[in-house]
Amino acid sequence: MHMAFIGFGTNRGLRSPSRLQTGHAVCRSHERRSMLRMTQTRIGHGFDLHRLEPGLPLILGGVQLKHDRGCAGHSDGDAVYHCVVDAILGALSLPDIGQLFPDTDPRFKDCASHVFMEAAYEKMQQRGYRVGNVDVTIILERPKMAPHKALIRENIATLLRTHIDNINVKAKTHEKVDAVGENRAVSVHAVAMLAPNEEQNDSNSQQLVGSAPLERAESVTSSLLGVIGQRVSAIQELTLPDKQTPCPVQRLYDTVEERKEADPSSSWTAKLFSKGHKKIAQKVGEEAVEVAIEGSARHTEGVVKESADLLYHLTVLWASLGIKPGDVWSELAHREGTSGIAEKASRSG
Ligand SMILES: [Zn+2]
Repeated sequence: MHMAFIGFGTNRGLRSPSRLQTGHAVCRSHERRSMLRMTQTRIGHGFDLHRLEPGLPLILGGVQLKHDRGCAGHSDGDAVYHCVVDAILGALSLPDIGQLFPDTDPRFKDCASHVFMEAAYEKMQQRGYRVGNVDVTIILERPKMAPHKALIRENIATLLRTHIDNINVKAKTHEKVDAVGENRAVSVHAVAMLAPNEEQNDSNSQQLVGSAPLERAESVTSSLLGVIGQRVSAIQELTLPDKQTPCPVQRLYDTVEERKEADPSSSWTAKLFSKGHKKIAQKVGEEAVEVAIEGSARHTEGVVKESADLLYHLTVLWASLGIKPGDVWSELAHREGTSGIAEKASRSG
């Protein structure tokens, strides 16, 4: 029961001050309320505006358009993707795209904006939601958008793993008035309705966060590369979890699980399991202290080595108690978007 709750961290923004103060005592009822909330649809709104400047490519919804100018921006300036991302983040009551991917971060310089869409999809998925529908309005004076709407819809649908019928793209001019009407800017509005992902919620509430089926990830990746190939930068690797290889902690955990039933005389891990969870917990404590000792002495190499030991013993402890790494990732995801102070307050009883 607890797993299902932390697997789908719901809207922390709605947490009332009184619940923050009461902390652990209300965990059970909070859990029930969160489960209820998961059955609700959620709506988010996005808005974006970029200046148009000569000499830049104009990329909207992953499509490079023929124009004498393009969107100025730290990333590739794809105002459509940015706007859809903000609508999804809004529906999840998460901080906006500018906070999650600050334009002061050099990793996002000239970054192809599908990365932000992927990240928004992951966040939606982690919280147990899927796209109900998305409605986008692009406002720009030139060029004509009609020939490109279908491809933009398809790109958004592919990135959000939904049917193209769930994505709508409209476009209009600004009647030659103001900056947008004078071809000096592009603005975009979007509304996203998210529905509870019943399939995901029913079948596997304890699944590792963000582990979308491999084949879907592959099809999305190949379509992305086709669409915006020339702007795909190394950032993709920096910001997106590699879906084809589980994270190192997950791999460590899988190995530990495999060795659980091995002969204690031949497997160090099996030997640890045979000693019971108290001994295992004690080892975690010892390794944590060693990390701390190396850290106080500024021995970075020692901290790295002891951290690896600590992670190993931590996965053994998890496995001995039936905790999955995904449970921990879910807890982290649940805390995302909550300030450190609010999070601490929610834990102190
Ligand atoms: Zn933008």
